[in-house]
Amino acid sequence: MIIDGKSIANEILESSKIKIKSFKVLPCLAAVVVGDYEASAIYVRNKARVCQQVGIEFLKYKFPSNIQQKKIIDLIKKLNSDKNITAILVQLPLPRHIDKRTIIESISPLKDVDAFTSENFSKAVLKNSNFWPCTPSGIIHLIKYTGIKIESSNCIVIGRSEIVGKPLALALLNLDASVTICHSKTINLTQRCIGADILISAVGNPKLVTENMVKPKAVVIDVGINYLDGKLCGDVDFEKVSKIASYITPVPGGVGPMTIAFLIKNILTLYENNLRTNES
Ligand code: NAD
Repeated sequence: MIIDGKSIANEILESSKIKIKSFKVLPCLAAVVVGDYEASAIYVRNKARVCQQVGIEFLKYKFPSNIQQKKIIDLIKKLNSDKNITAILVQLPLPRHIDKRTIIESISPLKDVDAFTSENFSKAVLKNSNFWPCTPSGIIHLIKYTGIKIESSNCIVIGRSEIVGKPLALALLNLDASVTICHSKTINLTQRCIGADILISAVGNPKLVTENMVKPKAVVIDVGINYLDGKLCGDVDFEKVSKIASYITPVPGGVGPMTIAFLIKNILTLYENNLRTNES
């Protein structure tokens, strides 16, 4: 079965929209963009569109690629103390001369919508908070949607990035799965993947996952976003793997819309947490 990420995401967006209508003050997301990455421009546009759709204010702050790191940090400090801004994201990647970790750590954890700061990330992992990076959250939601039992399942996560692979593997571990992380230095990827009940690829390499790597009836989640012959595709050879998987996500229309739905969910979590803190 094909997992329809778009319609599952729409359910989340609809319920968020209803919730936002009851707020006296609207949440506001500030997006910091540095440079002219084509993909980033598309992602930021999509985030702005969905914020508008559900009634969240959206402000974009754009810097040229040769900007000094200090200027970005100065802006983030201003956004941290601005009461009208309830959530902040810095669109990745950043130019090479900028230290990504320094920039992320300058975001107040109270406004860090991506849960990338070490404070929010460690709370997620060690305290099992409900506030995780958006893509891993969206993926866990999709897996739960299939009804497959995560507890005691064999999960293989291909990719170990800080925004997808690593947090996802830890989230699955917190749900009592047995998790293996594979990456660019992994030897014999096929051998490792074949035992997976749940196989997730977050690499960015078209047709990396072929049918001989997939156990019959496995759940396959494709996070990759690639272009092959001018067409958008994931990491998985969808045509062949979909014949043996029990559930599979398409690209587009799988994980992508879930990432944005969980961005909205995270904006609301921050908003409600901050309201609670201000009231107490
Ligand atoms: P990244 O480049 O930071 O990480 C890629 C990972 O893949 C690395 O950990 C690397 O070790 C691993 N890798 C590279 N080649 C490999 C190989 N041959 N075998 C096994 N592992 C290999 O990327 P990222 O930011 O994690 O994103 C991964 C993909 O997911 C990209 O295509 C990106 O566009 C996409 N993405 C999609 C969404 C979404 O919402 N759908 C969100 C984030 C990222």
